Formats: sequence, C-alpha cells, structure tokens
Amino acid sequence: MVINTKELAAENKKLKELNAMRTDLISLNAHQIRTDLSAAKWIIKMLLDGDYGNLTPEQEAALKKVYDSNEHAISLVSQMLSAGKAKSLKNLDEKYKVEKADIVPFLNSTITLFSAEARKKQIGLNFLNKGNKLPRVLIDRERLKIAIQNLIENAIKYNKPKGQVIISIKKSGSYLETAIKDTGIGISPENKEKIFDKFFRARNTEKTSGFGVGLGLWNSKKIIERHSGKIWVESALGKGSIFYFTIPIAKK
Ligand code: ADP
Repeated sequence: MVINTKELAAENKKLKELNAMRTDLISLNAHQIRTDLSAAKWIIKMLLDGDYGNLTPEQEAALKKVYDSNEHAISLVSQMLSAGKAKSLKNLDEKYKVEKADIVPFLNSTITLFSAEARKKQIGLNFLNKGNKLPRVLIDRERLKIAIQNLIENAIKYNKPKGQVIISIKKSGSYLETAIKDTGIGISPENKEKIFDKFFRARNTEKTSGFGVGLGLWNSKKIIERHSGKIWVESALGKGSIFYFTIPIAKK
C-alpha cells in the first residue's frame, strides 16, 4: 500500500486528536474517582474515630483495612492525574518548590511510613545510614517523597515472603546516591529500561501481584530527572533488584 505524505499527515493529526481526547477522558474520570474515594475516606475516618458509636475490635480492624485500601486507591489515582499533568513541562516546572535539605532525615521519615506495611508482610526494612551526616541537596520535598515512596512501595510489593529491603545512601562525586535493594522477583534484562515507561508492567509482576497501573516508576523518573538526577536499576531475575537514584549536592 502506498500512502502519500498528505494522507500520512492527516492520519497523524487524527491520531493526535484521539489521543488528546483519551487523555482528557482519563483525567476527567480520575478526578471524579478521586472525589468519590475522598468522600468515602472521610466517612470511614468518622466511623473509626467513633463518631457513629463505639466499634468492636473486629469492626475496627476490618474498617482499618478498608481505610488502607482506599488510601492506596487515592494514591494511584493521584499518580494518574500527575502523569497527565506532567505532559506539559511548563506545568511541571511551575509546581516545583525547591529548598536546601538534609536528605538523611528526610529519607528516614519516608522509609518509616512503610514500617507497618513491611511488618505486616514480614519483610525486613532497613536504612543503613540513619546517623550519617551528608552534604545538603536542593529538593522539592513533596515531589521527591512521591518518587522515593514509589521505589520503596515496589521493593516491598515485588518482594518474596520474608524478604529484605535495604536502603543506603552515599556521596558519589558531586551527587548523593541512594540505593534501594530488594530480594524480590527481579526484572529481566529486556525490561530494565521499559519499566520506566508509562503504563508498563512486566509479565512476572502480573502473575505474582495484581495491583498496579505502571505509572509509579514513570513518575519517579520524571521527578528525579527534574532534580537533575538519574535513576536506574540493576537486577537479576528471581533474585532481586537494586534501584539507584542520584541528586546533585547543593552548592554552598
Ligand atoms: P506498578 O507497580 O503500578 O505496576 P511501576 O511503574 O511502579 O508500576 O512499576 C512498573 C513495573 O516495573 C512493575 O509493574 C513491575 O513489573 C516492575 N517493577 C518495579 N519495581 C520492581 C521491583 N522492585 N522488583 C521487580 N519488578 C519491579
């Protein structure tokens, strides 16, 4: 079949319009879902706080599970929304508020958010450099927190029963390099680059853990690169992975 340039341009335009429509629709739906989930969150919270009367320990435990799942769903939808917004670099730039920060306590408090989840899954979660003093970095706390949370969440989610997650940080030239090591399912060599693509999920993931949309690492990469850092992974299939990211040291 011979297609001339004009036809190709028209096809291209049509595809672009369809794609924009699809993105708008996803974003509209995601906003609506987030609103509904937030409404549910406040009702669950009131129930948990005893605003509708006392709960039995069983009711409270069950409701806490609903609360946690709801929180997870809110965070997934938020990621979908920020993925949509991140399409425009200008928008992304405007949203960044950088400040000089000590990354060690910042990392420590982000890791601590996962203590309960790791314990529940019987996975060891350790930060090796809690007490270290390192040079300061320029970061947008909220953004970087999302990037790190995605990495730790994955290290727990794609781990094996009784596995380990070990986080460490060191100075590497004019950067601080963080490593998040897990003893999980690992990533095949052909997927090592693809996992940072939008909506990509590896096959071994689908078999072992159903939950996810494939936006976490895509978001993390954008955020790290926006901090002028790099993100990459070393992995052995079936044995585990180490995700690395760097952030430049702030000038004095
Ligand atoms: P999600 O977890 O929602 O699927 P991500 O963008 O965070 O999306 O990850 C993309 C894919 O990369 C995952 O579906 C999984 O296949 C793979 N992956 C990410 N982190 C790990 C890890 N620590 N171990 C093994 N596979 C991983």
